[in-house]
Amino acid sequence: MDVVVVGHGTAGQTAAAVVKKVSPDSQVTVLEKHSYVAYHPCSLPAVLGGKLRLEDVIEKVPKGKVRVLTGATAKLINREAKEVIFERDGSTDSLPYDKLILATGLKPTFPPVEGLHLEGVGTVWDVESVESLLKVLGNKVVVVGGSATGIEVAAELASTGRDVTLIEMMEQLMPGKVDPPIASTVAKHLKDMGVNVSLKTALQELKGEGGKLKEVITNRGAIEAETAIVVTGAKPNVDLARRSGLPLGESGVKVDEYLYSTEHVLAAGDVAEVRDFVTGRLTTTGLASTALVQGRIAGENVIGKVVKYKGALSPYVVKVGEFSFGGVGISATQASRLGMNYLSFRFSGFDLPRYMPEKRRVLVWLVTTPDGRLIGAQLFGRRIRQHLTFLTAAIYAGFRVQDIRLMEFAYQPEIIDVVDPVASAAEGISRKYRLTASRSPTS
Ligand SMILES: Cc1cc2nc3c(=O)[nH]c(=O)nc-3n(C[C@H](O)[C@H](O)[C@H](O)COP(=O)(O)OP(=O)(O)OC[C@H]3O[C@@H](n4cnc5c(N)ncnc54)[C@H](O)[C@@H]3O)c2cc1C
Repeated sequence: MDVVVVGHGTAGQTAAAVVKKVSPDSQVTVLEKHSYVAYHPCSLPAVLGGKLRLEDVIEKVPKGKVRVLTGATAKLINREAKEVIFERDGSTDSLPYDKLILATGLKPTFPPVEGLHLEGVGTVWDVESVESLLKVLGNKVVVVGGSATGIEVAAELASTGRDVTLIEMMEQLMPGKVDPPIASTVAKHLKDMGVNVSLKTALQELKGEGGKLKEVITNRGAIEAETAIVVTGAKPNVDLARRSGLPLGESGVKVDEYLYSTEHVLAAGDVAEVRDFVTGRLTTTGLASTALVQGRIAGENVIGKVVKYKGALSPYVVKVGEFSFGGVGISATQASRLGMNYLSFRFSGFDLPRYMPEKRRVLVWLVTTPDGRLIGAQLFGRRIRQHLTFLTAAIYAGFRVQDIRLMEFAYQPEIIDVVDPVASAAEGISRKYRLTASRSPTS
């Protein structure tokens, strides 16, 4: 079987490797438009913080038995002829396929303002964008957009001693995605790190002098800046899909629950429109964690519709200095916008016993259905990823908070308090709303 994968990001790499496992005799070829085999976008903020060099996040040598054609941009999927037309080194070529996996990711979007072309203005998206940014990175930096990337970039740059302002047009960071109790804690922590966080501040213009950035103009006044980093969003990169007549939804390429778009074409990762596990609504996640699972499923399904995609829970974690925050499932804000009935509760405590000098704050925010079934969670703290993983599994399994409060959690005083913060939060919400344990967690 000939399998062509378009895009060698998280979903494409995973899908290609899995195809070789489930169908070892297949010829798998990946078309990747970048001149290198792959890169690690999630580590780009750390490059700006000086923790990694740009070359550290670039993969130059392909792994495994997959053929990766770099510098190859797919131009059209001819679905009648079952071949993909691509350009490489200035010439046009084609590849036949039995199955094609589309994994072209997202593309960045920018606000319609003057001055995006100025020297000193850049973004954090891929290797090229960060390479350009590093050449013009000054001491006074304005980061535009309180997204996960904006927050990580601001924190990393502040850790290098730069004068950093983070502007966000809404009244909180990561609006909608993160609920106010966690968002305000993140903003406070950024301020403690030296970042000037300016909310309700919308970018209006990037003003220059002699072609160079001088000021960032906002609705709340001008901010002097040598560098502006605009990270205001991204949308599914459906250009190739659209040209090739693949069905498109509101947020990406339409796929069925096996990630098939048409009879011989599958789509995975950020370009695919999938169902949200909690709400059942169509979405695209913009996360490597979900792209990886979708890549795995698309890879397994090239031999037939074997594995169903259960839906995106979208667990994420964002690093902010010594702390991190993250979430999974639905936020209370999203639930309220959708008109859902929900309960929510905030637990604030410490990650280690109170007598331990190294203890740090931990916040757990839970969102449940009126009968206590967990549908969302957010955390802020030092070691939240382990809790987030448990909460992700708990949502998949349909656990109720009144059951979680009675679960045992491993304890060692230098690692975690005996009363696990998640159990405390589950206890708190159960008591507040008088939720009673009526069944075992797995029934
Ligand atoms: C700065 C930054 C930080 C991030 N941090 C995190 C994080 O901490 N955790 C997390 O879960 N997610 C993070 N993400 C998001 C994560 O990187 C993406 O969700 C993930 O990479 C999606 O995988 P994908 O395979 O769908 O798309 P991508 O990884 O974007 O891969 C798409 C690939 O397709 C190629 N391509 C596109 N069009 C064509 C074409 N026509 N022909 C050939 N090739 C083509 C592109 O060059 C690209 O290599 C971050 C993203 C950024 C930008």
